[in-house]
Amino acid sequence: MLTSADGWCTYCGSMGVRAEVVDHIVPLEQGGADDITNLVPACRSCNASKRDRTPEQWRKSLEHRYYGPPGRGTSRRTPTSWTTPTPG
Ligand SMILES: [Zn+2]
Repeated sequence: MLTSADGWCTYCGSMGVRAEVVDHIVPLEQGGADDITNLVPACRSCNASKRDRTPEQWRKSLEHRYYGPPGRGTSRRTPTSWTTPTPG
């Protein structure tokens, strides 16, 4: 394990998930480099889910199941502080 991976997951770290492994951004199978420019910290869940796909390919596969791609940090909750004025 690389000590540089001791941080947050590149893909879902915004949700407070720690990195446990290093992931090849562009998989070696798709011509990615096997050096630091192509390595990012990731959690086991993302690493296992992404496998041999690029982040773009991975996102597309996830969009069917989730609100959006990981790492975007979007929230679809309506703000609770916003109240509708009651007429009358
Ligand atoms: Zn992750």
